Amino acid sequence: MSQKRDYYEILGISKNANEAEIKKAYRKLALQHHPDKNPGDASAEEKFKEAAEAYEVLSDANKRSRYDQFGHAGMNGGGGFGGGGMNMDDIFSQFGDVFGGGFGGFGGSRGGGSRVVKGTNLRVKMKLTLEEIAEGVKKKIKVNKLVNAEGVTTKTCSTCNGAGRVTRMAQTFLGNMQTQATCPTCQGSGKVIDYKPADADANGLKRKEEVIEIDIPAGVEEGMQLSVTGKGNAGPFNGIPGDLIVVIEEIQHDTLRREGDNLHYEAFINFADAVLGESIEIPTISGKAKIKVEPGTQSGKMLRLKGKGLPQLQGYGTGDLFVHINIWTPTKVSKEEKEVLEKLQKSENFTPKLDGSEKGFFQRVKDMFQ
Ligand SMILES: [Zn+2]
Repeated sequence: MSQKRDYYEILGISKNANEAEIKKAYRKLALQHHPDKNPGDASAEEKFKEAAEAYEVLSDANKRSRYDQFGHAGMNGGGGFGGGGMNMDDIFSQFGDVFGGGFGGFGGSRGGGSRVVKGTNLRVKMKLTLEEIAEGVKKKIKVNKLVNAEGVTTKTCSTCNGAGRVTRMAQTFLGNMQTQATCPTCQGSGKVIDYKPADADANGLKRKEEVIEIDIPAGVEEGMQLSVTGKGNAGPFNGIPGDLIVVIEEIQHDTLRREGDNLHYEAFINFADAVLGESIEIPTISGKAKIKVEPGTQSGKMLRLKGKGLPQLQGYGTGDLFVHINIWTPTKVSKEEKEVLEKLQKSENFTPKLDGSEKGFFQRVKDMFQ
C-alpha cells in the first residue's frame, strides 16, 4: 500500500490555511493538472485526483478537524471519498464550481472556457442507381443549410455570467451538494446574441444553399446512412458545425434484382433453345454478357456468374450474378406450328422424366452452395 501524502502538503498550504486559501490552492492545482490540458498524461490525472481528494477533506470543516486529529486513518470509512479515491466525474460534479465556470461539469464537454455549441446534423436522401452503387460515385448535392449570418455580435450571457453552466444545490445522501447544469439561456455557449441582422434566426444563423460534393463508396445499400463530418448546420456563435447525414436510397434496376452483394436475373428462353441449346445475351451491372444455355436445359435452372455481383462495402469480396432460366411458353401458334406440336406431344421424348434434374428451385440452390 502506498503511503498517502499529507493533504496540506499536496495543496501546498499551511495547517492554518483558511477556506479561501484552500480553495485558491486547489483551483491552481486543478487547472494545472486538468486532464484537458494534459491529455493522456496519467501522472497529471493522478495529481488532479490527489488534489481533489485533499480539497474534498480540507474544504469540509468536519472532515478537516478529523483529519487534523487522526490523519489519513481518520478518513477511512468516515464517509466521503477519503479512502477509495475519487473518480473524474465525482470531481467535476462536486467541485466544478471552484473552476469559476472555466470548466464544465460532468456530461458536458470539459475544456477551457464555456462549452462550444455543436450545430445540428443535416439529413439528405440520395437516390443511386445500381450501376452507381457498383462503382462508387462522387455526387454533388445542393443542400439548404444553416450558416452563421454576417454581422452577428454577441454579449456575455447574464444568466450564467458567461460560464455556460449554472450551479444548483441538490440534496443527496451525502448531504447538500452543488451540481452543475448547462445554462438554459445560452445552451452552454456563455454568449447570447447582442445584434443580429433581420434574416438571422435566434441563434444568429440563416439558411443558405450550398453545393457539397460527396464521395459514395461502392457497395452501399438502401437505408444506409453515411456521415460527412462537419458538413451539417453551423454551430451558433461560430461553434462546431454538425454532420451531414446522407441516407441512401436505391433506385430499382430495370432487370437486375439485388440481394446483399448478389444480383439475380430472370432469363426467358424459348422452348426450342432449351431443347437444342443456345447462346443468350444477358445484362450485367457492367454491360451485356453472353452465356451458353446447354441443350436439354430445364426451366428453373440457375447459372452462377462469379464476381458479377456487387462489391462488398467493407471487404474485398464481390458478389455473384445468378441467372434463373425460365422457359417461355408461346401463347399463340400458327396452324403449322400447332400440327408440329401435336406430333411432338405424343412423342416418348416429350414425356417428363423425373430423374432428379427436375428438382425444385430451393433444392438446386441448396446443392449449389454445398
Ligand atoms: Zn448562460
